[in-house]
Amino acid sequence: MLICVTKKIRTGMKTKITDFHLDEYAHWVADLSCGHSRHFRHDPPWQQREWVLSPQGRKKYIGFELDCKTCGSPDINRGKE
Ligand SMILES: [Zn+2]
Repeated sequence: MLICVTKKIRTGMKTKITDFHLDEYAHWVADLSCGHSRHFRHDPPWQQREWVLSPQGRKKYIGFELDCKTCGSPDINRGKE
């Protein structure tokens, strides 16, 4: 597993989407610049993210800035080690 660099916490946990890939359940996962990943499921009616299903939609989100919850949760990081 990739271990989060604690330096990132000082910068407000901001990270960027660098790429997308599919997990074993065929859900889209965003690769983040901090080394973590985050699911972007299109799972109606609970989660509406139709954009994630199209290559054009995903391309628009490359470089999108977001907070990395894994970086912001040191307890979760510890649990994975
Ligand atoms: Zn992170």
